Amino acid sequence: MHCPFCQHEDTRVIDSRLTEDGSSVRRRRECEQCGERFNTFETAELKLPAIVKSGERREMFDERKLRVSFERALQKRPVASDAVDAAVRAIVNDLRRSSEREVPSRQVGELVMRELKKLDQVAYVRFASVYRKFEDVHAFREEIEKLERDLPGLADLQLPLLGGGKRAGK
Ligand SMILES: [Zn+2]
Repeated sequence: MHCPFCQHEDTRVIDSRLTEDGSSVRRRRECEQCGERFNTFETAELKLPAIVKSGERREMFDERKLRVSFERALQKRPVASDAVDAAVRAIVNDLRRSSEREVPSRQVGELVMRELKKLDQVAYVRFASVYRKFEDVHAFREEIEKLERDLPGLADLQLPLLGGGKRAGK
């Protein structure tokens, strides 16, 4: 890296060691031109992105809120909390891996749907119904119809979403 003192293009690493907790590497560098020495730290960037809500509002990613979304959708469903933990972790890891600084909340919603689909189809539909409520009723109906084809019996499950208990299109 460049020297922060004289902006010379090259600096030499003269020492490199792991910090006590092993989470970063400290390097001692020396400028070949002005001879100044300085330290650099290398750590893994594991920051989670900010979540961009509708109306461009931003908030910090909140794992507890994510869990609440799962718990709501999975209410009274036979899904072990270990499985929910794993789903939450999978999403957090995806967000970390994306290394984006900002992620639209819609994208997080899609990740939740992806995980719920694997965990429990009914919970998936519940979540999708709330999540997509005013955004895209048409796409949502298609999703339900698709699920009904895959899962006969789902239609009997009194979904609370399509117009106050009435079934869609009837
Ligand atoms: Zn220098």
